[in-house]
Amino acid sequence: MCLWSKHVDLHTPGDRRSDCCARMKPMALSFKNYEVNLFTGRGSGELMIVHQCINCDKISPNRIAGDDNEYQIISLLEESLCLDENTRNKMTYLGIDVITHERKEAVLISLFGINYKEQFNRIEKKF
Ligand SMILES: [Zn+2]
Repeated sequence: MCLWSKHVDLHTPGDRRSDCCARMKPMALSFKNYEVNLFTGRGSGELMIVHQCINCDKISPNRIAGDDNEYQIISLLEESLCLDENTRNKMTYLGIDVITHERKEAVLISLFGINYKEQFNRIEKKF
């Protein structure tokens, strides 16, 4: 299934030292190194998908892969608005900058570029 991951890393992303290997469910989106440009007022950062392991509950943000579907990434943002408080607090505790609805525009720009409105309309017509 798309956007799902596998629990292979133990301490740091890419270490491949976990023997859990269960599937990790996409839970939310986050920004790494989010900054607001003082000139344009626009925020940007590296868009990440926050996964949670269905076996051991480990939460970790992961880079978006080139073949991840942009439309599904946006659906994930919508779904993550309904995250339960406990999970959201856990993510905040881990220092994960969970993206809320106010920053949806920054997500769209990061996926489709500054002319996202045009791009997004084109995509919406496809579905
Ligand atoms: Zn696990």
